[in-house]
Amino acid sequence: METLKSLMMFLPGKLLCPFLGHRLQVSKLITDHIKEYKCCRCGEEMTDTAQGLLEKLTPKFRETNAFLANYYERRRNRKVFSEAS
Ligand SMILES: [Zn+2]
Repeated sequence: METLKSLMMFLPGKLLCPFLGHRLQVSKLITDHIKEYKCCRCGEEMTDTAQGLLEKLTPKFRETNAFLANYYERRRNRKVFSEAS
């Protein structure tokens, strides 16, 4: 444990992630179940997938999430309208 502590003194935050795992913070809400995350140490971006897994946020996932966010947003709006009428 001492080794790890002294390692942490010298290593920039980015290099800690492979040892300690990412320190993820929610960066974007896509749907009720899918969020995008960003590591506050190294800036790595991750996302929830439809399968309930956590994956690296690739351009493909970013595209899918943008589509989902748009779709859910419209669905939410429609719900509001139908409740109002
Ligand atoms: Zn990280």
